[in-house]
Amino acid sequence: MRALIALIFLMPALAFASPAQTMTPQELRFVTANAEFTLFHEMGHLLINELRLPVLGREEDAADQLGFMGLFLIDERQREADFPERMLDIADYWRVEWQRPKRPDEEIREWDSHALDAQRFYNIACLAYGSDPVRLEWMIQATGLPDERAFFCPDEYQQARHAVNWFQEHFRRPPEEPVRHRIQVVYDPPPPSLDDGEELLARVRASGELEKVAEKASTSFPLPRDLTLRLTSCGAPDAWYNRISGELTLCYERIAYFRELAARVPRLHPAASSR
Ligand SMILES: [Zn+2]
Repeated sequence: MRALIALIFLMPALAFASPAQTMTPQELRFVTANAEFTLFHEMGHLLINELRLPVLGREEDAADQLGFMGLFLIDERQREADFPERMLDIADYWRVEWQRPKRPDEEIREWDSHALDAQRFYNIACLAYGSDPVRLEWMIQATGLPDERAFFCPDEYQQARHAVNWFQEHFRRPPEEPVRHRIQVVYDPPPPSLDDGEELLARVRASGELEKVAEKASTSFPLPRDLTLRLTSCGAPDAWYNRISGELTLCYERIAYFRELAARVPRLHPAASSR
């Protein structure tokens, strides 16, 4: 998993998500952090399925942990001043999903393979705080993490880190082994419903970030077949990995949705929330 970590470590922030000039730097950070997390969560599914990683517990929880660990184990980025804020951005996405008013047809599905939004919020908040409990003690209050959970968060983080280290040791491509298969990046046209879709596409392309992630994963792990990473229009703010076709799909609509939600995160708008 060192390779996955390196994959994520070496990847600069996805600087493609800035759309409207009206976005504040905090909103842009929220969008890029969550776009990255979405990509790495799905990359977690890809690696679990393609490398046949052993998974105890639910795969969705494992993908969240893989995605998140990858994000913040990047030594260089962990030293960046806004790194804790980026972790909070990811947690806060789930808080907003949890607390936003639901439409009548939206039900809480206890049977779903994903943890509930509220649980994903606390799980990520816990890992974030647990990653550096001395320096990030303030996160307990910032997230509202109850003491009963916070007490064990350093252990939870270490457990996830241990799993990541184990993955690293066991699944990395040996340097003498050639790269046989790669992840190809494909860009489909943006949806007409997205006003600045073409601009968004241009930004994603220009950033080269999807290619960097795909290449890093391709060279770090002995993938068993050629795979695809596709940015496409889905009609919904979604992302997924199709284990049959070997295609990772990231939807334009999901990035657009993060932009919408950024306006609803009080932490990103301190002046407004203090009124
Ligand atoms: Zn998933």
